[in-house]
Amino acid sequence: MATTTTTPTTTTTERPTAWQQTACILCSINCGIEVRLDGTRFARVRGDKAHPTSQGYTCEKALRLDHYQNSRDRLTSPLRRRADGTYEEVDWDTAITEIAARFAKIRDTYGGEKIFYYGGGGQGTHLGGGFGGATRGVLGSRYSSNALAQEKTGEFWVDGQLFGRPRCHTTGDFEHTEVAVFVGKNPWQSHGFPRARTTLKEIARDPERALVVIDPRRTESADLADYHLQVRPGTDAFALAAALAVLAEEDLLDHAWLDEHARRLDELLALLGGVDITDYCDRAGVDEELVRTVARRIARAASVSIFEDLGIQQAPHSTLNSWLEKLIYLLTGNFGIEGGMNIHTRMASLGGGGVGGTNRVTPVGGHRIITGLIPAAVIPDEILTDHPDRFRAMLIESSNPVHSLPDSQRMRDALDALELVVVIDVAFTETARHADYVLPASSQFEKWEATFFTLEFPENAFHLRKPLLPPLEGTRPEPEIHRRLVRALGGYTDDDLLPLHEAALRGRAAYAEAFLAFLGDRPDLARVVPLVLVETLGPTLVEELGPGSETVAAVWGLCQTAFLSYPSSIRRAGYEDAEALFEAVTTTHSGIVFSVDPYDETIARMETPDKLVNLVVDELVDEFQALASERPPSPAGDDAYPFVLSAGERRSSTANTIYRDPSWMKNDTEGSLRMHPKDAASVGVDDGGTVRLTTRRGSVVAVVEVSDTLLPGHVSLPNGRGLDYPDESGERERKGAPPNELTSTDDRDWLAGTPWHKHVRARIEAVA
Ligand code: SF4
Repeated sequence: MATTTTTPTTTTTERPTAWQQTACILCSINCGIEVRLDGTRFARVRGDKAHPTSQGYTCEKALRLDHYQNSRDRLTSPLRRRADGTYEEVDWDTAITEIAARFAKIRDTYGGEKIFYYGGGGQGTHLGGGFGGATRGVLGSRYSSNALAQEKTGEFWVDGQLFGRPRCHTTGDFEHTEVAVFVGKNPWQSHGFPRARTTLKEIARDPERALVVIDPRRTESADLADYHLQVRPGTDAFALAAALAVLAEEDLLDHAWLDEHARRLDELLALLGGVDITDYCDRAGVDEELVRTVARRIARAASVSIFEDLGIQQAPHSTLNSWLEKLIYLLTGNFGIEGGMNIHTRMASLGGGGVGGTNRVTPVGGHRIITGLIPAAVIPDEILTDHPDRFRAMLIESSNPVHSLPDSQRMRDALDALELVVVIDVAFTETARHADYVLPASSQFEKWEATFFTLEFPENAFHLRKPLLPPLEGTRPEPEIHRRLVRALGGYTDDDLLPLHEAALRGRAAYAEAFLAFLGDRPDLARVVPLVLVETLGPTLVEELGPGSETVAAVWGLCQTAFLSYPSSIRRAGYEDAEALFEAVTTTHSGIVFSVDPYDETIARMETPDKLVNLVVDELVDEFQALASERPPSPAGDDAYPFVLSAGERRSSTANTIYRDPSWMKNDTEGSLRMHPKDAASVGVDDGGTVRLTTRRGSVVAVVEVSDTLLPGHVSLPNGRGLDYPDESGERERKGAPPNELTSTDDRDWLAGTPWHKHVRARIEAVA
């Protein structure tokens, strides 16, 4: 197969360069880091003390980012698949021309809505992903999805039910809270808030504060906790319902807060009155007295912050779990206060965009679309059918759905059934191997970048990162790829842009005025606005900011919209207008605090008509009441598949899959299967032994790590393993088990479609 895998050329300099500011791109926190380069190598990496939220903090994973930048798997030429399935290199002009023609043909034959878009930004590439909307706009693509649609959409939907709109997303203040609660979350490894390990240790050390962990595993965070509710896998809803029922039964509610800020309390209390606390604790496998103690500790705290994560979002009752988790802080009045939960500002939406109202459903299966995103687990169902509205083509950007979404084989089948698949990525991923064309993107350190994980309160931060290196030869930044595609598709002409080119030469104030007029005159070009900015304002930025900074023009647009949305918050951060904000964003290379809020802003930011929290989520009431008769709790195993597998545990040796080179790991490179000593004995295997793990969808061989951190019957595999990576001779080698060869698209939440990666039935046999 004539694929191109390469080790980027290293130019050796005599000494490493000066420290340059950027960010770690391995999790949503995007800690500020400083890098010294030796040629293209990351010679040294350290935390950036000037970064407004991470303040010099990093975990150990950031220090190995050279394994991403200088991966042997980088692509350096567009690839086109031959009829026999191998790939050949083609030049950029050929690739863009052919891709545009083939997309246009599909659009003209079936309609642009049959072109489905997936991805648009991993943990660090949101700025480039923002330009995918322009290509989609020109093609008429209406449907999209990304990783959030297998993680967070259920929570977003609940936010919408409680607070008025899904964009009323809440965040905890763990640095200042008295009681920190983590549900299905191990922040020691998966982070989720700034300086996570430092904050966890501070809470654990302070006798006046408390740490509560609800998790079937005894994680590093649970080891630090004052209270660990070690629930049976998949029973979080019972534990949460029992805790809520204790709050109600012992009247531990914040009545003053509820009277002022919430509605339908009586209905909720009637529902909670139906919970048999003893029975629910029994089914969750937790001590009732411990649940009561935790409920009382939460109720008497001056402040409580709660973080729910994939442990409950990718498990049975996932959307119901989100409702119940949020009720804990609402019933105790921990909303809109210091140390509690608050609604934050944002620089840009992480949703899927597209057109249509809030009640959209998928074209084939009629599945609910939340924040513009199709449930990731139903994507193959929307392709592998003879339904006339099925998707016919996919554009996939900075994402690897074959590896990351449930049931890898079904995703491969779906991609192979499409008439056209185009992948934009830095590496020849498992998904790229099913594409008709692969377009090589520049790395996240070779272009201006930012993420829209702006999730902090009361001070929210944004970090625009300048490139550390020029683009690797043969690659292009995503904005340039989309610019070329959109032009090839006839999205706009030079004449269209002429008035804005002229205005840009008169300065940004004149440009802002002309731009508003342009939007009024040319609504047809609203779909390509980021590119219009890059084409017209972009060239004027290059002199100020250096080569490749045309992209930053889109950030100018973001500053305008952010200021329109949050003028007071941005002024409180010290920026009188959008231009001042843009100036600070582009000249402060460690990131800035862009908004500052008082706590009562959270109540004002709610979007319910009466500014009251709606405590009862009607669509979840039946599921809540059905818990009473659910025995045993959901899919708890059977004789054929007696174990519950958590497929994708976060460990010190896991990161997101932009680390394709397994040598970044210091240990556990194979990704061991953790199992309880009793289970190991029953299977007849010792620590370091080998087993075959089988689910209804697949089978893998794994090395066992005997560990009493799990309950008997519960086993776990780490996330991110099983990527194929070329060795020095170019032969691809696979380390560890890819978790999604084992998962099923059928096991998913009925409402949000989030797959149950943390709850996969399995059987295990020892192998020689
Ligand atoms: S992995 Fe996350 S917590 Fe660790 S350094 Fe990177 S961004 Fe920070």
